[in-house]
Amino acid sequence: MPGFELFGAEERKEVNDVLETGILMRYGFDGPRKGIWKAKELETAITEIFGCGYAQLTSSGTAALITALAALHIGAGDEVIMPVFTFVASFEAVLSVGAVPVLVDVDETLTLKPEAVRAAITSKTKCIMPVHMCGSMADLDALTKICTEHKLVLLEDACQSIGGSYKGRSLGTIGNAGTFSFDFVKMITCAEGGVVMTNDKEVYIKSDGYTDHGHDHAGIDRGADLHPFIGNNFRISELHAAVGLAQIRKLGTFLSLQKNNNKTLRAYLQRIPDISFRVVPEGGDDSCSFLSWFLPTEEITKAVVAEMKLQGILAGNFYWYVNNWHYLSKWDHLKNATTLNAISEVQKSALLKLKVTTFPASDAIMSRCISTAISLVWTEEQIREKGEKMVAVIKKVLQEKRQQA
Ligand SMILES: *Cc1c(COP(=O)(O)O)cnc(C)c1O
Repeated sequence: MPGFELFGAEERKEVNDVLETGILMRYGFDGPRKGIWKAKELETAITEIFGCGYAQLTSSGTAALITALAALHIGAGDEVIMPVFTFVASFEAVLSVGAVPVLVDVDETLTLKPEAVRAAITSKTKCIMPVHMCGSMADLDALTKICTEHKLVLLEDACQSIGGSYKGRSLGTIGNAGTFSFDFVKMITCAEGGVVMTNDKEVYIKSDGYTDHGHDHAGIDRGADLHPFIGNNFRISELHAAVGLAQIRKLGTFLSLQKNNNKTLRAYLQRIPDISFRVVPEGGDDSCSFLSWFLPTEEITKAVVAEMKLQGILAGNFYWYVNNWHYLSKWDHLKNATTLNAISEVQKSALLKLKVTTFPASDAIMSRCISTAISLVWTEEQIREKGEKMVAVIKKVLQEKRQQA
């Protein structure tokens, strides 16, 4: 999964270009920077590689989500439909623009269940935010249809699925806007960074201004820029962009290693008929950063996790159901509306309602799911060893459960 595994001379070269001039900021200083514009170069590379009209870099993936929401005019009291299985950044971003996160069920794609989205629409709904978790995607045709019918905005949180595609288009470029994260554990890294991608020029212009205190960037004198609206500071630095530029040039290599390693490991687990795999929507191309698989019951899954831990092979395997970062079951701070500052009554009551809302359909899926992170640097031999040990553990647990039954 992470680009940091293949960090090297290319990244050092790009960073050194910036260190040579000492111009660490992405805007201005046209003379002293001697033609070095890493952030601009990375934005151009993103539009070319992922096939979108515009790309605006940000200081993080979270900042990219906040920027996209603002640029799409989502704010106070607007409802944003998002999945119960995601990363905390998704609801943090929604809350920080004053909007209300409306959490709904996931299905075997591990992303938004279209029928659950439909059922959650109210007169306040403004946006559907699928989160393409663990490298693969939501059913984007179904969600686009719902958006069209109800005049809603589609914002793809593609932070975890760089390099995946749906019907020939890159994830993150299909909705009204989409975001990637380039944090340290993502497919490609800038250390910290993110991007808003869009085909809508207005959304881009607003994102560009929003990430830099509302500057219009119309002239060459930064001091003379006008501020058509109030913004923020979500700028990426040239040093970070330089790392990303080296990484993005290696994306093709990363993806082919990842897909190959994923496929090799999958072949081991496929030997066990009781195992099923995450559903990829028709026309989807999984980036393969994780291999996500299901066992028949929660009890068996918990026993497999316990046995893997006992045998020292749990590292790199994620049981999201009890994970503090990714599933509603452990988000007490969200359900208790624990914030440092006051939030609106509308937001607060929506969050407190989560305490008494249950998601049995998602529980039934997430309680049986384990995701194995795919390394770029595994050897064939390491995958064989990993695969055989995992298969042995699973067979052992299945046999024990059968004998008990
Ligand atoms: C990583 C991630 C983010 C946030 O990205 P940061 O760069 O860490 O702020 C948002 N959404 C999802 C699904 C992520 O995995």
